[in-house]
Amino acid sequence: MKPMLIGGEWVTTSHGIENINPSDIHDIVDVYAQAGRAETQQAIAAAAAAAPKWALSGPQERHDILHRAGDEILARKQELGELLAREEGKVLPEAIGEVARAGQIFLFFAAEALRQRGDVVASVRPGVGVEVTREPVGVVGIIAPWNFPIAIPAWKIAPALCYGNTVVFKPAELVPGSAWALADILHRAGVPAGVFNMVVGPGSVVGQTMLDDPRIDAISFTGSQATGARVASASLPFLRKIQLEMGGKNPLVVLDDADLDNAVFCAVNGAFFSTGQRCTASSRLIVTEAIHDRFVSAVADRLAALRIGHAMNAETDIGPVVDATQLAQNQDYIAIARSQGAHLRAGGDLVRRETEGYFLAPALLTETVPDMRINREEVFGPVASVIRVRDYEEALSVANDTEFGLSAGICTTSLKYASDFKRKAQVGMVMVNVPTAGVDYHVPFGGRKSSSYGAREQGSYAAEFFTIVKTAYTAAY
Ligand code: NAD
Repeated sequence: MKPMLIGGEWVTTSHGIENINPSDIHDIVDVYAQAGRAETQQAIAAAAAAAPKWALSGPQERHDILHRAGDEILARKQELGELLAREEGKVLPEAIGEVARAGQIFLFFAAEALRQRGDVVASVRPGVGVEVTREPVGVVGIIAPWNFPIAIPAWKIAPALCYGNTVVFKPAELVPGSAWALADILHRAGVPAGVFNMVVGPGSVVGQTMLDDPRIDAISFTGSQATGARVASASLPFLRKIQLEMGGKNPLVVLDDADLDNAVFCAVNGAFFSTGQRCTASSRLIVTEAIHDRFVSAVADRLAALRIGHAMNAETDIGPVVDATQLAQNQDYIAIARSQGAHLRAGGDLVRRETEGYFLAPALLTETVPDMRINREEVFGPVASVIRVRDYEEALSVANDTEFGLSAGICTTSLKYASDFKRKAQVGMVMVNVPTAGVDYHVPFGGRKSSSYGAREQGSYAAEFFTIVKTAYTAAY
């Protein structure tokens, strides 16, 4: 059984969580020690005890630790990618890409640790000087989802440590393997005892204990809207700093003047790759009339050619859904859409392979309208719907007609429409002729409306969440 990391010690318990391979449910990746309330509180106490010293640690120490971690992640990307593909089900090249991204993020924040920023300005009062500096927030609770088992933890943990915070990290219980590997790497990279702690366990126990503890000064959360709302309401009494990244119902607009091949690439990649289990997945394909039929038939042809199967097979394009609950949810949404009048143009059926896994053929639903549940609620699987619209104006209005606002894309060769869409799409990230999913690691990530709350993640914008600004006035006597 793999232990948890508390106060610089590897700690085990009598209960274990099995990590099951969704491509082959008889393959148990490993068993991980499951924390309860007591272990979670110990981890919080360790992070609180380590916070004052780490807050005063120098940029060189933080840089060196983050750099060592980043280097090791990159050096082991094949092996860690295999672990990730095995526990989460995304295909191996995507998994290796995610691991590489995690490594790059650590290297980015290693460098950020050396880029100490601040302002020295003149006071409006003669003889007084003003300095504006940033300080760590304190103990940061990090609660992660299962769909990016190493990249999302990396893009929260690396800036937290970079800016001098201590961490209690709770990975999603479905994917403790990558999280454990990351904890092991950080431990060996020289993170001082208590500065980084990892506890594995259910959200209702480990996560809730974190939410209820006043010693946690800030929480960076990624996951569903329902859990995000809990994080917010539990944090309000403490006036705790929070950062929430939640769901999406991301539109991809395809206009008559789009390059058809590229539009099909953007739709298929954005909606179905990583088994559609990306918060930035294009789940609504909003298509103008003159290109609609050609686009739908080209997407359906492309889907028919995709190979669904074991995430570790070299020929697989789309791996399994992550677990039985998610698979049932995907199937439910397909059935609901059909009952409301949608036409299932491609996929949607279970696929049998040599191993027993949660394989679902990517589903394309057509003849849908904005009010259907399939166009309002996040499915979080390989399911996309097509909405036919008259023109650009209607496409923009349908694209924005959602409570979510994470990512939006447009495929067009018109500079006029591309520029207008970039300005008017009510989202945090907007894409022109590239898929709605797939972002860089050195620039801000996040959304608006019900998709996100709080400061942006990633890039130098991460400092907003992981630091507190201090303004100091000095009169020299
Ligand atoms: P989830 O909300 O079920 O779980 C997320 C995390 O919260 C897990 O670690 C879980 O154990 C924990 N949790 C559950 N109950 C809790 C509680 N009471 N207190 C504290 N923590 C608790 O989400 P999920 O199913 O793991 O992930 C899928 C969701 O994540 C989708 O909605 C997806 O859109 C979203 N997501 C968003 C982004 C983004 O950046 N916007 C990125 C990836 C995934």
